[in-house]
Amino acid sequence: MGQVYKSGAFIQQCFAVHPLCLTLKKLDLPARLIFHCSSCNLVHAVAVRTLSLRVSVMRAVEEGPGRSASERLTDCAGAHLTAIGVRAMDVVRDQMGLRCADCRRLFDLEIGAIETH
Ligand SMILES: [Zn+2]
Ligand SMILES: [Zn+2]
Repeated sequence: MGQVYKSGAFIQQCFAVHPLCLTLKKLDLPARLIFHCSSCNLVHAVAVRTLSLRVSVMRAVEEGPGRSASERLTDCAGAHLTAIGVRAMDVVRDQMGLRCADCRRLFDLEIGAIETH
């Protein structure tokens, strides 16, 4: 830990070079998501502006309305945290995408400041 870098460059680089090493470590909703890169051994704290669940027609029928995107992500993190991976990362456009490999849910995020420890 120690030094904190306020830049999205590090997580963008991790995603570009070794996306599979980037894992969700902790939910700190609604404010932040904490990621860990096992390759660089860096922790990235990503501020969350909006979190939405991308729902296919089939899924919408299956799951029905009710739970919010953050509740769904909380469910996933509680049940199978390691199944959640980063599928898209664009710090220039402040966008990020997550995927749960277990339930095949896709999450879209608008992100704010990123801190790397
Ligand atoms: Zn890395
Ligand atoms: Zn899941």
